[in-house]
Amino acid sequence: MSDGPRDDRRPDDERRNTAGRQRGSARSQGRTERTAQAPSQRRRTGDPARNAAFDVLRAVAEGDSYANLVLPPMLRERGIRGRDAGFATELAYGTLRLRGRYDAIVEQAAGRPPEKIDPPVLDLLRLGAHQLLGMRVPPHAAVSETVGLTRERVGAGAAQFVNAVLRAVGRTTADEWLDLVGDAADPSGDDAVARLAAQQSHPEWVARALREALAGNGRSADELGALLEADNAAPRVTLVARPGLVDDDELPGTPGIVAPTASILDGGDPASVAAVRDGRAGVQDEGSQLVALALAAAPLDGPDERWLDLCAGPGGKAALLAALVDTHRGRLVANELQPHRARLVEQSLRAVAADAVEDVRTGDGRLVGRDEPASYDRVMVDAPCTGLGALRRRPEARWRRRASDLGPLSALQRELLASALEAVRVGGVVAYVTCSPHLAETQLVVKDALRAADRAGIGVETIDARAVVEGIAPQPLDLPGDRTDVQLWPHVHGTDAMHLTLLRRTS
Ligand code: SAM
Repeated sequence: MSDGPRDDRRPDDERRNTAGRQRGSARSQGRTERTAQAPSQRRRTGDPARNAAFDVLRAVAEGDSYANLVLPPMLRERGIRGRDAGFATELAYGTLRLRGRYDAIVEQAAGRPPEKIDPPVLDLLRLGAHQLLGMRVPPHAAVSETVGLTRERVGAGAAQFVNAVLRAVGRTTADEWLDLVGDAADPSGDDAVARLAAQQSHPEWVARALREALAGNGRSADELGALLEADNAAPRVTLVARPGLVDDDELPGTPGIVAPTASILDGGDPASVAAVRDGRAGVQDEGSQLVALALAAAPLDGPDERWLDLCAGPGGKAALLAALVDTHRGRLVANELQPHRARLVEQSLRAVAADAVEDVRTGDGRLVGRDEPASYDRVMVDAPCTGLGALRRRPEARWRRRASDLGPLSALQRELLASALEAVRVGGVVAYVTCSPHLAETQLVVKDALRAADRAGIGVETIDARAVVEGIAPQPLDLPGDRTDVQLWPHVHGTDAMHLTLLRRTS
């Protein structure tokens, strides 16, 4: 088990002493102040970073919120900055990602299943377990601060329970816990996927689907452990330089590995970069950049003037496509079902020349093929999907998704791809993209859509997407097997697990 990021903020005792000194200095300056707290009361006031992490976990559990939408404004509102903000972020996101592992540990340490523990108390135990086992927080601080937070937010009885359970958690090392968690999930020792799923904190159905996807893309199923581990690490922040809008040396960071438009940041706030603030650059996974670049670079005969992004919200790929189409004086139509996401597309396109964007519209992409047949030269279908390829950046997503989501989503994906194949002109190109490697959302959707197109009298051929991306990527890409589609992986390429199929309409 990796020992994760260290809590290199001031030690808790020092922080309290500093607070004490500050109180002293306020008095010495003659300001009035409320009666000094007794030591026992002082211990009740939790660290703001830990309080924020707890509030995020509660918002995710109770409000169906997304951690990455809740935490940043909360930090801003509460004035939590710098290392404290980093600590709160790692504590909240890391705890959410590793929730499954910590629940298995808590079950053994508490001697009762997580469902039998009051949900806020269970969240506090998860936060304590992550500090003890996933972050380099000194054990006494991890326990005492979490117990203090429990006393403050839930009550004294719960604090005693949390104290006892966290002390039991801390008596066993992280690596020993991994063995114990694996043994509990796979008592007979013959189910390596169940073992890995529990140890690497993934629902078992997700781990099984990812294993199938590895094998279905010519990779060894033995890579599963590395893939699941990669899902548990925070992705590095990657910027995209939108072509024609950013000077060569304007973005900080190191050059990308799979996309020539990418810069990988070592840290820091992307909002501090002027080009990001004004929309000439953006934050975008390298895999997302590569698939948009691939649609633009796929070979095409005849006019290349009118492009469509069928499912454009919130607009990351639309902004890259608009910048690209503008380099040869074409125009982009961006379509999105949800009005509020269509507004985000407009915002994302703010730096692109106005005449590169024909329209940002709200509508059902399934109807575009019928309403505007053979109207576009290139079409992007970045389909709504389970997001199983982007688990790194959506900490709670793996616990929200259900295997039963696949049926309706893959039906929608088929319809959107069928619509795109109608909307593209003969000779034009369609990119089918998902941020999921699940075979039911990728290879099977494409196979079915090709059959359906054939039945509808639409001729379609597959383009060698691997040759296209190899012509774009700054470094050779590890793409085993002899398929013509592209499947990227976090543990191999450092990107989200993006899928790309390129198709050409032939009649
Ligand atoms: N391409 C986007 C980007 O790079 O920012 C991400 C697209 S996201 C994977 C899928 C989008 O499809 C969502 O914004 C969702 O609202 C939208 N969507 C869902 N159903 C749709 C439909 N029937 N027609 C058009 N868009 C749809």
